[in-house]
Amino acid sequence: MKKAVLFDLDNTLYDYDKPHKKALKNVYRVLKKHVKISFPRFLLLFGFAKREIHRELAGTAAAHNRILYFQRLIEKTESTVDPGLNLLLYNAYWDCLLKNMRLRPGALDVLKELKKKGLKVAIVSDLTTNIQLRKLKKLNIGKYIDVLVTSEEAGSEKPHQIMFLLALNKLRLRPHEAIMVGDNSITDIEGANSVGMDTVLLKRGILAKVSKEDYRKPNYVVKGIPGVLKILEKV
Ligand SMILES: [Mg+2]
Repeated sequence: MKKAVLFDLDNTLYDYDKPHKKALKNVYRVLKKHVKISFPRFLLLFGFAKREIHRELAGTAAAHNRILYFQRLIEKTESTVDPGLNLLLYNAYWDCLLKNMRLRPGALDVLKELKKKGLKVAIVSDLTTNIQLRKLKKLNIGKYIDVLVTSEEAGSEKPHQIMFLLALNKLRLRPHEAIMVGDNSITDIEGANSVGMDTVLLKRGILAKVSKEDYRKPNYVVKGIPGVLKILEKV
């Protein structure tokens, strides 16, 4: 019998792609008031900025900080701009994304059921604590979450083992007593498997090629969050 479930947040408990696209459009709406730029060029420069930041800060929480993406983007437009513009873009992004976030079908019922069964729930997520707290608040699931671990807090991103070990340490549990649920077979599954946890892959995210002995091979695969309850009955 497992004592805890660790969940990834982005694209696992809620759908990230749609609100992210809307948020980027909202950023462009603000940016074009200050800088002459077409939408395709904005997307191109945003992509360059994001990849550069990822390359430079790989493995750290700051690698996903939108304020760094937008700073780099603004600099790439070679415009003389108001220093406050980045903050406008940052808020335009998160305000829009938060407004459009929706829990995945069945996710709330699963969290309620886990509470009822007396299991602990952790969120193990890359990014800053400030933003992840804002998401939990918007999704209104704080009362079902026992601990939160962010990469900002742990000092490294998934799949680094510290992310999972810190969550287990906060819960006072050992790896075999918990199960990790996530949409990414590299960050979520490989990382949790490598510390000896059982893993559940939500089949909609990044599916890396796996070989038989690979840490990227999940113990279980589900198509939706409710599938997690059935797995917990089995293990
Ligand atoms: Mg994810």
